Amino acid sequence: MISAFSQNSEFTKAITTFCGMCDSGESPNQFAFSSVIQACSSLKSVQIGTQIHCLALKAGFSYELFVGSNLADMYSKCGSIIEACMVFEEMPSKDEVSWNSMINGYAKNGYNEEALVSFKKMLIEDVTIDQHLVCSTLCACGPLKAYNIGSSLHSFVTKLGFEQHNSVGNALMDMYFKLGDMDSGSQLLKINSKGTNIISYTSLIDGLIKACANHVTLKQGVQLHALVLKYNLDQDPFVSSIIVDMYGKCGLLDHSLQAFDKISKPNEFTWNSLIGKLKEAENFIKSMPFEANAYTWCSFLASCRKCGNKERGELASKSLKIIDPLNSGAHVLLSNIYAKEQQWEDVKSVRKMMKDENVKKVKGCSWVDVDKRVHVFGVEDLCHGDKKEIDLKLDEVLRKIIEVGYVPDVDSVPFDLDYDMKVKILNHHSERIDIAYALIRIPIGKPIIVKENIRVCVDCHSAIKLMSKVEGGEIIVRDNSRFHHFVDRLQ
Ligand SMILES: [Zn+2]
Repeated sequence: MISAFSQNSEFTKAITTFCGMCDSGESPNQFAFSSVIQACSSLKSVQIGTQIHCLALKAGFSYELFVGSNLADMYSKCGSIIEACMVFEEMPSKDEVSWNSMINGYAKNGYNEEALVSFKKMLIEDVTIDQHLVCSTLCACGPLKAYNIGSSLHSFVTKLGFEQHNSVGNALMDMYFKLGDMDSGSQLLKINSKGTNIISYTSLIDGLIKACANHVTLKQGVQLHALVLKYNLDQDPFVSSIIVDMYGKCGLLDHSLQAFDKISKPNEFTWNSLIGKLKEAENFIKSMPFEANAYTWCSFLASCRKCGNKERGELASKSLKIIDPLNSGAHVLLSNIYAKEQQWEDVKSVRKMMKDENVKKVKGCSWVDVDKRVHVFGVEDLCHGDKKEIDLKLDEVLRKIIEVGYVPDVDSVPFDLDYDMKVKILNHHSERIDIAYALIRIPIGKPIIVKENIRVCVDCHSAIKLMSKVEGGEIIVRDNSRFHHFVDRLQ
């Protein structure tokens, strides 16, 4: 019973059953001890674990192979590495499982040198080496920057024929990335990505990207992101959420949002990861050594809009109004947040506020060079001589991008209109009119360069990416903050 509970994640029940067994006067055997100790280590309860250790000591089982290994494992998982070491040292016979508990415990608790020394001792004692042992030891090389030991271990692993094991391959990659050898690491990623098991190394990428989630290693994080894109792992919801997470943690909400936009079907996990980022980003902005500028708050506000997070949106727009009172972007974004929640009254009051405070909404317009002439378009502005042709092209492109998965972000249209009208409004954003016009006039294969005076909106960002895909051309949009480069040809 105890073992069944423990193996089925009913850890508390395993412990109460064990206590019941002791109360009834039965003496537990080594299997009962092993199972209940495993339950303690899963619950990370060193208090109960220590009491059971005492009982095992009294019963004479504490040095027995299974019980001892589980005790060492329990202590190291609870971070009590000295106790783990004591149990381990006193065990008269050790096998690969007990050695692994110890080496893994050392590495996980940051005692990397001890982990490597133990591995060396173990080699002398002629213990059978399995892939778990190799993984634990490889783990210790990265943080120590022990490049030579790491690469010797790699050769050793290859000789043993373990390189093909997913877990070993991951541990090797993890080690190389941590050692800063992106080339060797990505070589392994290439080998692994040919396999079928994405899940196994998403956890690895998770660990790595989490490690990169501070400014010091952001560069590596960006390199990893590039690798993720290169091997098409970005459609894995888990991997993409981690990327969203990483940029969010670094306060780079723009990058976070861009990564989010690339996910074709965001799931609950991805959304949560973006929403979770808002809290962290808020703390990040507050803890910055310099005052957040309008741009930072604008990115934050844009993220709030994406998630429909009204409270944080209000906070951000308040801060933004203090820094940059005439910034119409803040008002517009806030009114969009309300619109997303269909609070039309609030939308109206923000508009009224803008009017009262004399905030002028910058009229969005964009322009494109065609036939050595600059053509300027505004939102829904179609008084151009080629209006008919442009309209047809816009409809045609819309149909094509819907086929490849475009979902109009109708929530971002701050008007109380029906779905089709909202789609039409989005489709007539000035930058799209520019692109449609350029598609008609510019020879195929030549890049389309559009410039605009306001920020490209989230919906256009995803639409234009798909436009470049279906039209097979390069599109560059220069808005008021940066260049957006879209190259995504159909494979
Ligand atoms: Zn737009």
